[in-house]
Amino acid sequence: MGVINIIGGGPIGLHCAALLAEEGFETSVFEEHPNIGRPVQCAGLVSSTGIEELGIALGNSVVNEVKGARIFSPGGQSLEIKKKKTVAYVIDRVLFDQMFYKKAKRLGCDIRLESKLIDVRNNSLFMQTKGRGEFIKSQITIGADGAHSIVRHSVFPKLFEKQFVQAFQVRATGKFDKDFVELHFGEFAPGFFAWVVPESNNVARIGLGVRPGENAGDSMKEFLKKKKPNIRILSKSSALIPIAPPAKELVSGNVLLIGDAGAQTKATTGGGLVFGLKAAKACSETVSNHLKHKKPLTDYVKNLQKVNKELAMHWKLYSYIQGMKPEQFDSLIAKAKNAGVEEFLSEYGDMDKPSLFMKKMLFKPKMWGLLPAVLKSM
Ligand SMILES: Cc1cc2nc3c(=O)[nH]c(=O)nc-3n(C[C@H](O)[C@H](O)[C@H](O)COP(=O)(O)OP(=O)(O)OC[C@H]3O[C@@H](n4cnc5c(N)ncnc54)[C@H](O)[C@@H]3O)c2cc1C
Repeated sequence: MGVINIIGGGPIGLHCAALLAEEGFETSVFEEHPNIGRPVQCAGLVSSTGIEELGIALGNSVVNEVKGARIFSPGGQSLEIKKKKTVAYVIDRVLFDQMFYKKAKRLGCDIRLESKLIDVRNNSLFMQTKGRGEFIKSQITIGADGAHSIVRHSVFPKLFEKQFVQAFQVRATGKFDKDFVELHFGEFAPGFFAWVVPESNNVARIGLGVRPGENAGDSMKEFLKKKKPNIRILSKSSALIPIAPPAKELVSGNVLLIGDAGAQTKATTGGGLVFGLKAAKACSETVSNHLKHKKPLTDYVKNLQKVNKELAMHWKLYSYIQGMKPEQFDSLIAKAKNAGVEEFLSEYGDMDKPSLFMKKMLFKPKMWGLLPAVLKSM
């Protein structure tokens, strides 16, 4: 067993494992499924700026490159934001996850498939591997076991309780615009929104999220009937997306949380890959400094400051948008269009970093009419 034991062989856990192995630590990863990357429960959209910052080569996991987004308000107002270059990649999540798996393996990580964590108690992990139970002593445990994290439930039983959206997604054939992602707000997606992420002009991932207690499957049927009646569904999936403000505490004793287990997703869109991978770096640095220089593991939250600053901004924007009545949202979109927000965001927008364009708004007199709305959201 490794000195460091990571629960969950998703991209975030595997990236963290590789970073720790590069630092020379014995690292084990436990994944409950027999195959890395399956089942797929993701639209697979990642910002080009985020991937560049992370220094990750996406290789053959890229399925499509997107240039912009079309946003539709409940009453049908719309905004189109378009850049000349690629703003986001649509990735194949199986190939993407396997890329992290191969790297971690190459670096010597011990990766166990069909190995499920049942419980965490102090420094012991109770695992079930291929049907057989075993206790493992763990010096450091990292919970990268996704939205339903057992690690989180074991050490922070109340953290992020009911702070999620229930998502439903289909992969479908139809007529799409491969250059644009679509975001649809309306009563069909209470508490969140619906998305269309194109793989090509003929295939797209269409999904939506709803607040807890609503039925995502029924909402999806309503959305497709209203907005995408002429598609043919190839496959369906449903999963949770954690939607919460950044947590103040993600460390308890020798246990740390990363990725969806730590709700490191953008509350505005549910995207968790770029921020989770950044958090994996902060986590690996924290653990490395702890083991090499006796620095406290509680430094993790300090090391997450940059990530958490943007996540907090996403949370504020999300809370503001969800607090609006449909007609208020319509009027905000209409006002934004008149103020030239499409051109402004086409130039300065960054899907991961709202703080960048908010600062820029101060220097654009045409945008000042929107400042009261922006300030209210803060
Ligand atoms: C419908 C949908 C669409 C999305 N679209 C996007 C998008 O377009 N862009 C984006 O950036 N993000 C998107 N997300 C979010 C994104 O999928 C997650 O943020 C990302 O997968 C988080 O990675 P992770 O490694 O933390 O968790 P996961 O990918 O969930 O991996 C966790 C791993 O832990 C394993 N595991 C769980 N419990 C145990 C256990 N007890 N023992 C052992 N192993 C365990 C699981 O099998 C899994 O392999 C979407 C999510 C959903 C649901």
